[in-house]
Amino acid sequence: MKSILDYDLKDKRVIIRCDFNVPMKDGKITDDTRIIASLKTINYAINNGAKVILMSHLGKIKTPEDLKNNSLKPVYERLKELLNTNVYFSPDTFSDELTNQVNNLKSGEVLLMENTRYEDLEGKKESTCNEELSKYWASLGDIFINDAYGALHRAHASNVGIAKLLPNGIGFLVIEELSKIDNFLEEPTHPFVVVMGGKKVKDKIKVIDNLITKCDRLLIGGAMSFTFLYTKGYHVNKKYLEEDYVTYCKNLLNKYNEKIVLPKDFVVSTSLEDTTSQNKLLENIKENEYGYDIGSSSIEIFVNNLKDAKRVLINGPMGVFENTMYQKGTYEIYKVLKDNNIKTLVGGGDSASSVNNLGFENVFYHVSTGGGATLEYLEGTPLPALEVINKKKVLNKDN
Ligand code: ADP
Ligand code: MG
Repeated sequence: MKSILDYDLKDKRVIIRCDFNVPMKDGKITDDTRIIASLKTINYAINNGAKVILMSHLGKIKTPEDLKNNSLKPVYERLKELLNTNVYFSPDTFSDELTNQVNNLKSGEVLLMENTRYEDLEGKKESTCNEELSKYWASLGDIFINDAYGALHRAHASNVGIAKLLPNGIGFLVIEELSKIDNFLEEPTHPFVVVMGGKKVKDKIKVIDNLITKCDRLLIGGAMSFTFLYTKGYHVNKKYLEEDYVTYCKNLLNKYNEKIVLPKDFVVSTSLEDTTSQNKLLENIKENEYGYDIGSSSIEIFVNNLKDAKRVLINGPMGVFENTMYQKGTYEIYKVLKDNNIKTLVGGGDSASSVNNLGFENVFYHVSTGGGATLEYLEGTPLPALEVINKKKVLNKDN
């Protein structure tokens, strides 16, 4: 696959599509991981004498009020601190002023354009890959580099639209993310254990289908375990039961009975607002009680299934880790992986934040910066923004 390394960038206008979709609170960036992760490609372009044009989306733009809450201005301020060159900002996403700013850029300088999704306000032009918009943006550059790993599963003007019109390639972040996942999945070491959790079976079916034959064990926690448990005759609170997926769960359990491990108990309460909770075996959970985390016996079983693992893939937390009362299950899983130095890949947006929240930064083999993109990659689904670049398939041999 073509990458930034295949081009002579000197004096060229290089558009780099980044993923600056960072969490914000009151106009301040609360986690700049994605900005830091983008620096390698940006600095490479600067150091090689490119005129660098940065584009990214941030949040969603549906109403005029969304505009000011989702401005890339705070990202611009952060980039000025991080980059050792002149950094400019364009408040426009489609104007002669923007064109002029690009034309005035000197080699080694950087221009950050305002949120690409500002173009979604009227007619969803960015998100529908509008042709006129793609053409205009492409006219601002000579080369297009896609380094927005977290948006690879989208077919938008700023990633797919421009890529169709310019010589293109992927950046270092995309290279690293894809090769880490590829290498991990292709590694022959066993036991390979997959730990799934989080909210819904629905979101994870394709990942399960793709990995169930490759892994030795599948441990299922989180709310998604309830539909599996229901098929085994346990009481499950209706709130979590995914009726449409009962048959799927039943068939999976029948077929892979030996591989699949389910919780035996939960930390239950009547609601998340309730300040008390109890550890209860499945058979003792009452109608009005919800399981918000896997219980102590389940933790023990899961930990025993992980101790001897050579590779572990985490996709979804064991409980409502955002609440201190329900984070033990997720914490203990990470702890056994850390203590035994087990090669661990974490995919999924909430899983990645649980790793950081629970104090396991820089511990694992790889924590992916992408949510949906990683999930779709793990499913084996072709990613549209890669497909336009991916003429020669080198990195991802499976698709
Ligand atoms: P990821 O983003 O890693 O793929 P998901 O989006 O599938 O993960 O699920 C994450 C969410 O699932 C978390 O916000 C967590 O609070 C929630 N969750 C996990 N276990 C439970 C549970 N037992 N009941 C309710 N919500 C849960
Ligand atoms: Mg999620």
